[in-house]
Order: sequence, then structure tokens, then C-alpha cells
Amino acid sequence: MTHIVHRNPHVPLPVAASGSGCTIIDSHGRRYLDASGGAAVSCLGHGHPEVRAAISAQLDALEYAHTSFFTTEAAEALAETLAARSPAGLGHSYFVSSGSEAVETSLKMARQYHVDRGEPQRHRFVSRRQSYHGNTLAALSIGGNMARRALYQPLLMESHHVSPCFPFRYREAGESDERYATRLAAELDQTIVQLGADTVAAFVAETVVGATAGTVPPVPGYFRKIREVCDRHGVLLILDEVMSGVGRTGTFHAFEQEGIVPDIVTLAKGLGSGYQPIGAVLAHRKVVDVLHQGTGAFQHGHTYVGHPVACAAALAVQRIIQRDGLVERVATLGPRFEQMLRGALGDHPHVGDIRGRGLFWSVELVADRASNQPFAPSLKLNARIKAAAERVGLLCYPGAGTVDGAVGDHVLLAPPYIVTEAELETITDLLHQAIDTAVQEAH
Ligand code: PLP
Repeated sequence: MTHIVHRNPHVPLPVAASGSGCTIIDSHGRRYLDASGGAAVSCLGHGHPEVRAAISAQLDALEYAHTSFFTTEAAEALAETLAARSPAGLGHSYFVSSGSEAVETSLKMARQYHVDRGEPQRHRFVSRRQSYHGNTLAALSIGGNMARRALYQPLLMESHHVSPCFPFRYREAGESDERYATRLAAELDQTIVQLGADTVAAFVAETVVGATAGTVPPVPGYFRKIREVCDRHGVLLILDEVMSGVGRTGTFHAFEQEGIVPDIVTLAKGLGSGYQPIGAVLAHRKVVDVLHQGTGAFQHGHTYVGHPVACAAALAVQRIIQRDGLVERVATLGPRFEQMLRGALGDHPHVGDIRGRGLFWSVELVADRASNQPFAPSLKLNARIKAAAERVGLLCYPGAGTVDGAVGDHVLLAPPYIVTEAELETITDLLHQAIDTAVQEAH
């Protein structure tokens, strides 16, 4: 009997013992090709000596200092680095320890912004169905993963969900990108107006939807229209790039491909690449100036805000990403990976959609290709694929969209940015095998 509660005691797990590059090795010496970087976390791969050295150096100097007494070189330099990689104005960082904390922090920042501007009635958040923003209560409240919310429903705060931008499942037959985006923006507009535009603090969305629906990029023009709606009503636009940010989609920020600048962005996974737990809120000067001129400072805090070791690790990760041109590498490898996936799985009788950007791809499974009918949720196809993949030494991240129940199994792939083309070929082959095995088992 394990004394650990963060794992299911009924499911035996291998013991991760070591790792290097895109490979994790368990305590029996079995090797796993890490095609999902955990949950889209590992962007430098495992065991990077320079990040280990940066962490050691920070530990040798100082392990921790509380932010009410000190700042640190690591935190200041990391903030400078992120500002330099962001559009003008969007350069003000708040460092936390996880993606959920980053989302919570962004909501509180939006709230204080409105209060400090003299609009204390703005307290509502609008977000999207089929989204995930974290597991703490406010993040879960704005999240649209109904399965994860169900148990905690009585504890959640008021939330308002609009349709996701998810063409494979929800675009009407014959609807152009332009008309689809216009329809979704109109829905957001109506929702804000119905709630009372002067009561809405922010609209929150993942730029490219991650875990809940499986790497769903927006249709072109969608976020430009959303930005206009937010601006019209004085509503802040918060983009959650905890999973899709820091180069994962082939640009440092995923929103760079949408031609807009949000007011606040959340980052986490790729920021520290798993070497330390770290997340960040990047806020626009327009927001931060209001807090500084209003209350004076952002009214928030956690003991481990701006943790020096986490910041030193993330700083090393970001410097390596930049020095080694890894975002550019993701942009180059993305179309190659897409070709491989489409080549191997594009005609598969149970693959309905292959979608993504950069090194952030998903394969959605369907029971029937003509109607795109999903497999019955009770078959747990995505979990079967994960298990079959592990048996052939591949790690991929399974999931199912949820509205009232699960709708559509997918497998998410997010390999480290250092992955080679040969490894991408192997990932594609092993995934193909795992899908075939799981579909056979399910029939
Ligand atoms: N936001 C998004 C888009 C995520 O994908 C996740 C985690 O998967 C979170 C927030 C929550 O991050 P964390 O698990 O680090 O709390």
C-alpha cells in the first residue's frame, strides 16, 4: 500500500529512474520515448547539464529569499528576458509555482485593475467550454472541462462559458473561417451584454486549446474579432498559454500568430521545462500602471513567489532556447511532423482529425469516419492508447473532450524541442501501432 495520494493506488506505475534527451528510463532499465514531454512540459528534454549547473549555482549562493525582503538577480533577469521576447508593453512578470497559480493570479490582477480604475462592479469572468485552466478552485471555475468540475461544482465561483473555437466538432457545414469567427465573436459580445458589460472583468481563453480538446488552434481571424469585442466593452483579454506558450507552437507566444496582443498572458510548463516548478503572469504595462498608480502594488502573494532556484532554472532554460534557436527549430520541425502524422494516419479508418501547430499535435479518434461519431466513452479509448503506447516504449498524453460527458478521444503529442526527425518518425510509427492495438482491444 502506497502512502502517496497523488497516484491511483489501484494502478501500478513504473518508477522513473533517469532521463536524457527525449528518453526516460525506469528502474528496470526500460526506455520510453517521451513524445508528450510529460504534459507538454519538457521542452529542453531531460538531464540538460547547463540547467543542472544553473540550479546548483543558485543553490550554492542562496536557496530562498522572501519577496517582501529581497529581489534576486535570477528573478530580475528572468523578467528582463521575458520582456525582451514579448511585444512592447507586455513585459511585466509575476512568478509563481504552477500554471493554476498563474491563472488564479491573472484573475485577481484583472479584478484589482478594474477596482483601481474605479469600476469595482467588474467581477465576472467569461471563458470557453472545452477548456482547461487548472485545478485550483477559481481556475477550475473558469475552466470548461465538465468532468473535472463535476465533483467540486458546489465550491466553484460564478462562471460563464461561451462556445470554443473548435472547427472539427462545432463549425457548421459550409461555414467559412470568417463566418465561423464572426459567429463566435457575436456570441461573446451577446454574453457580455447580457451579463451587463460593466460587470465583466475579463475574457479568458487558451490561445491553442491543450489538454481538454487536444491542441485546437483557432481559425484565422478569431482572436482579432475577440480582441475587438473585449476592447468595445472594456473587458481585459487574458490568454492562457500555460501549455501552448514559450515556443511550443513555433513562436515564443502562441498569440503572435493571431496578430493580437493580450492584456495578460499566463505561462508555466515550457518556462522551466520541468527543471523546477514555475509559472508566470505577464501583464501589459496598461494593467500594471493602473495597479501602481491605484492601490500602489498588486495585492497578492505566495511564500514561493519568485523563488530564486526556480527563476534560475527558468532563466537557464530560456537562455538555451534562445541561444540554440529552439523556437525556430519548432517552427521548422512542425510541418515535418505534420507530414509524418498525416502520411501515417491521415487515411486511418479511426482517425477523424489531425491538428496542431509547431510541436503541439493531436490525433482525434472516431468510431466512424463518415459521421465523425466518437467512440463510446465507456471504451476509454484514449487510456487504452496510452497503455498500448507505453508497452511499446512511447509516452503520449491521452484525453477526451467533455461537454456533459466525454466527446471524442484524442492523443496529444508535445515532444521536446530538441527532438530529432528520426525520433519524430519513431513516435509516428509507435503511435500508429498503439492506435491499432487499442482500437482492436476496444472492438
Ligand atoms: N492552463 C492550461 C492551459 C493548462 O494546460 C494547465 C495544465 O495542464 C493549467 C492551466 C494548470 O497548470 P498546472 O497543472 O501547472 O497547475
